[in-house]
Amino acid sequence: MTTTPIIGLEVHIELKTKSKMFCGCDAQHFHAEPNTHTCPVCLGLPGALPVPNKTACEWCIKLGLALGCTINEETFFERKNYFYPDLAKSYQITQLQKPFSINGHLKVDEFDIRINRAHQEEDTGKSVHVNGETLLDFNRSGVPLVEIVSEPDIPSPEIAKKYLLKIQQIVRYLGISDADIEKGSMRCEPTINLNIDGKFTPMAEIKNVASLTGVMTAIQYEIDRQTQQFEIDHIEKNSTNKTTRGWDADKQQTFLQREKEGSADYRYFPEPDIPPIIFTKEQIEEIRQTLPEMPDVKFAKYKALNLSDYDANLLSEDAGFSAIFDRIVNNNDPTYAKFVANLLIGPLKTIEITLEKINPTHFKTLYDNKDKLSSSAIKQLILDAYNSGDDPLELAQKNNLLQVSDTGAIETLAKEVIAANPKAVADYQKNPLSIGFLIGQLMKASKGSANPQLSKEILEKLLSL
Ligand SMILES: [Zn+2]
Repeated sequence: MTTTPIIGLEVHIELKTKSKMFCGCDAQHFHAEPNTHTCPVCLGLPGALPVPNKTACEWCIKLGLALGCTINEETFFERKNYFYPDLAKSYQITQLQKPFSINGHLKVDEFDIRINRAHQEEDTGKSVHVNGETLLDFNRSGVPLVEIVSEPDIPSPEIAKKYLLKIQQIVRYLGISDADIEKGSMRCEPTINLNIDGKFTPMAEIKNVASLTGVMTAIQYEIDRQTQQFEIDHIEKNSTNKTTRGWDADKQQTFLQREKEGSADYRYFPEPDIPPIIFTKEQIEEIRQTLPEMPDVKFAKYKALNLSDYDANLLSEDAGFSAIFDRIVNNNDPTYAKFVANLLIGPLKTIEITLEKINPTHFKTLYDNKDKLSSSAIKQLILDAYNSGDDPLELAQKNNLLQVSDTGAIETLAKEVIAANPKAVADYQKNPLSIGFLIGQLMKASKGSANPQLSKEILEKLLSL
């Protein structure tokens, strides 16, 4: 028996525009006093007229471009009709027939996941359940939402997680959303069915998955559940049934919510209060010009600098972090790139650094003097220089961290150490590995300033005479 999971993902991204999708209300609803960011439009009062948010539309196009989509120059909004207490109008304004962005793709490992669409819509209000009662908060009602729908090209829960992380990274690079899964500004609904020896199990869409781990566990649960159900049912022909299932994070299982509606059940029709939206080729091109260098391009650039996959990954992970690296490394010297990468991924990763405060000269100074400084001193100096703004070389002098590479000075000290430690010298003649003790004595005599490598060489030379 061969089982192939067929997984698609619908991802909702809340855009971080200043105002909502169709009214002027403040779109920032997290932790706001309930029902304070509302007006007749987002409360769905009769006669209130929606006006589309231009920035939100541009950002939807921008995301589409970043996902390699084709952009529809002329689009329109539609009403999706259904009743739910947190949907005051009894319809959601969305796009069905003509989304802004269609036919994109996203590379995840060796898989090229096709993207069906990225369309613009509005969020609903929130039902809050307290002490057996349900309260309604409409602060979120009308917040701009982009829905990204993948084709069912995702082969496993692990690739689903990586796909989500990649979408999150792209959205954050574009600066159009926090895409915070815990806060709900990024939400995901997997659809899953199985191809078992050419027969298809009924497709299930899973709701209420609120974490990345949850997505993986829920998908795996559903794969197992459908496999078992298939063995019981012995489906003889391909099933076209669709169901909606909820994810219960406490019980770690999905449960049947309803037999799935088809789009016909929502009675979609064009939104009569909003005229068609037109973006010219030139306007779309202008939006394309605002696209930053994307993570994959950054990664390739860092690999070309001879950095390891590990380094290139960490550096390109976050747009802010890679901007800092790019500012410091403005040449093509792989040795310098590795030197800077080690400092950024090492000591500087432990504190919050900003592009404004970073001083590229500090890195260059330390790099130019790296032979006179121990690696632990370099790590400490870059932190101190970042925090104080002082020149790292001055800090090194002040703290006596500069190593003496003056052969004459070290030789004098080495002779003294050899004269003062006859037993260690005798040990060395029997076992050359014991030279560590003499190096230690020399370092101590120089108050830590002697270059250890040079000290070792000089001691060896003197002891072999
Ligand atoms: Zn409003």
